[in-house]
Amino acid sequence: MAPARITRLLKEGQSGDQVEVRGWVRTRRDSKQGFSFIELNDGSCMANLQVVVDANVEGYESTIKDVSTGASVAVTGKLNESPGKGQRIELHADSLKLLGTADAQNYPLQKKRHSFEFLREIAHLRPRTNTFGAIARVRNAISSAIHNFFQERGFLYIQTPIITTSDCEGAGELFQVTTLDLVRLAKLQTEIDFTQDFFGKPASLTVSGQLEAEIYATSVGDCYTFGPTFRAENSNTTRHLAEFWMVEPEMPFYELNDNMALAEEFIRYVIRQVLETCPEDMEFFNLRIDKTVLETLNNITENDFIRLPYTEAITILEGSGQEFEYPVEWGRDLQSEHERFLTETHFKQPVILYDYPRTIKPFYMRCNDDDKTVRAMDVLVPRVGEIIGGSQREERLDVLTDRMTECQLDPDDYWWYLDLRRYGTVPHSGFGLGLERLVQLVTGMTNIRDCIPFPRTPKNAEF
Ligand code: ATP
Ligand code: MN
Repeated sequence: MAPARITRLLKEGQSGDQVEVRGWVRTRRDSKQGFSFIELNDGSCMANLQVVVDANVEGYESTIKDVSTGASVAVTGKLNESPGKGQRIELHADSLKLLGTADAQNYPLQKKRHSFEFLREIAHLRPRTNTFGAIARVRNAISSAIHNFFQERGFLYIQTPIITTSDCEGAGELFQVTTLDLVRLAKLQTEIDFTQDFFGKPASLTVSGQLEAEIYATSVGDCYTFGPTFRAENSNTTRHLAEFWMVEPEMPFYELNDNMALAEEFIRYVIRQVLETCPEDMEFFNLRIDKTVLETLNNITENDFIRLPYTEAITILEGSGQEFEYPVEWGRDLQSEHERFLTETHFKQPVILYDYPRTIKPFYMRCNDDDKTVRAMDVLVPRVGEIIGGSQREERLDVLTDRMTECQLDPDDYWWYLDLRRYGTVPHSGFGLGLERLVQLVTGMTNIRDCIPFPRTPKNAEF
């Protein structure tokens, strides 16, 4: 029989219930009167179950000395009201079985607090800590809320390819996928012949599922992708990963304003649902990680986001009197410091910037009549900066073809994408949200590497 999970026992367990639990020992204290307290955790929640083991319990004598931090045990017994502070019930053991020891000399997770840097080096053990257990549960709750949001609205979940032969962002930050023998080719010093490669041409890991999502949006209607994306950007920041998860809704008949409204509603919905489903974990983040995280999240759920054209943001930044490391100038992309100034200092709430210069945005964004800007939108939030990037898509065949040429892309490579504009073209829009940036926002964690179980960054792909 499957053991009971501690989260359910702590909430619903009644005095007198006979239960079995299995989990990992957080701490053990022995009393002088000949019994022991075990703080047991099974990962189902932040709280431990207190287990009281009398010396006469079956298995006590032979095993108790090995029931140390990190060891795994199975306990059966009765729930009782707890006389101690901080818990409603405790478990009085009638049997104790040691499943696996954890040598106290070597177990890396002793009771003291460890730095996040150190924990990244032991990513195989860090989910056993309070912080990383909580992050795993909150990341799960966010993922579930993302599906709920779109499913409730009738969006189809579409799986787009991970291996691709088109570069959606046109930024060239691609991980190549090949079965060619690079070592042999290097020795031969010949030209690489991609017709000999697995796909007969250069292929890479996807940077976005958007172009394929557009195919489905203009066929079956509102849809979304939710999958891994890969960018070989050599940026060692606290907000970039080489492998991250992206949610990309794509909607026919949406113009930019509809797109902004959906993005705003989406972020709010997810935050509300996480606050509802993970109250203990969220309290922990607010207490231990960032004392302002709940305030920030409540502010987001209760107030409308600011909507501001890029050009006005530049005016605000130029007039701010603030010393920035990177210059502010119309036509340049905003840096994290600028985004944070707008959301944390100037407006003190999320901001949606739109109508960006077309020279800094990809080919597929819809051109405005001013000939200078495109219908792009970025959602900026406090602490994290950009969390969503999106746009209304260019639906006019001639304008799109011209833009491709301007961006030095060959329209022939995108024949199928252009077909969507040849046959029954419609206005449509969509956006991309980075899951780990949302986890960062919700948990208050400062480094994105702590918001995904096994981070991949330049020179690092362990585990
Ligand atoms: P940034 O300017 O912050 O590098 P971007 O403009 O390149 O991001 P988009 O192409 O607009 O990003 O991607 C959509 C979303 O995906 C971003 O808003 C962000 O939430 C997320 N994202 C993009 N790149 C990364 C990355 N390297 N690591 C984690 N998340 C990312
Ligand atoms: Mn962007």
